[in-house]
Amino acid sequence: MAAVKLSKEIARVFVNSFDTVLFDCDGVLWAGSKVLHRAVETVNYLKDSGKQIFYVTNNSTKTRAQYLEKLTKLGFNADEKEIATSGYLVASYLESINFQQTVYLIGSKGFAEELQNHGIKHTQIGPDTMATDMPSYVNGQIGLESEIGAVVIGFDEHLSYPKILKAANYLANPNCLFLASNADETFPMEIPLVVPGTGVMVKAVETASQRTAKVFGKPSVAMFEAIAKQCKINPQRTLMIGDRCNTDISFGKNCQLTTLLVLSGVTSLKHLEQYKHKEEHILVPDFYTDVLGDILDFLEQ
Ligand SMILES: [Mg+2]
Repeated sequence: MAAVKLSKEIARVFVNSFDTVLFDCDGVLWAGSKVLHRAVETVNYLKDSGKQIFYVTNNSTKTRAQYLEKLTKLGFNADEKEIATSGYLVASYLESINFQQTVYLIGSKGFAEELQNHGIKHTQIGPDTMATDMPSYVNGQIGLESEIGAVVIGFDEHLSYPKILKAANYLANPNCLFLASNADETFPMEIPLVVPGTGVMVKAVETASQRTAKVFGKPSVAMFEAIAKQCKINPQRTLMIGDRCNTDISFGKNCQLTTLLVLSGVTSLKHLEQYKHKEEHILVPDFYTDVLGDILDFLEQ
């Protein structure tokens, strides 16, 4: 089934068919530091029209409070409870199971803060480098801690061999939990450079430990379940808007939501054509348009 291009003819019926709208952030609301065409007006308009709004992001490097600060500064009429980050989900999950041990964290400052906000103890973040060669390292003092009950992975620009080794050894204990914020392969960039994402770190530890992480970010349904827990939400009247088919659109499909792809981020029209030919239906959105602000433009025409 091919994706339908959004147009002024169908815009009103389209908007009226939803009570809840979930927005991915990067590539939908903004690209880097630049707010995309009428993104603020469109989100605020939908909220003023009585729709429930949620911001759902796989980014674990910022806390919900930091996201709220950014959204508010840019002019979005947002509330902290409307924000679901993958780091927040992991922290909430650990809190919900009354996790009392220490997390071995491969992650960032924002992720560490989110764990602290939920009363979860964690190991230090930052560089953990090899001062010697591998044989000397493994035969020396590795410094494994005894209180570790979970290995948690988010984006960590200081990922290293010692970190992978430690994580894999903690995971040799079958009771040690293995959680990850997301499995994104790369970061969306404005410059033509491949920038490895959290998925690379997850795969490295999965390979070494021969275990599979429970991933909380999109396309996992965990993010939707967390939102559905805090308010009434009908999947049949919910729209997921994203710029990336293998996370946002797959997520929408996994949760039985209607999906709208915006072409202002990772997935291009060329990609979309390829997905259609390969019949990768989980990647094909129900609707697509160039940029989020088109919705408002169409409604006004
Ligand atoms: Mg995005």
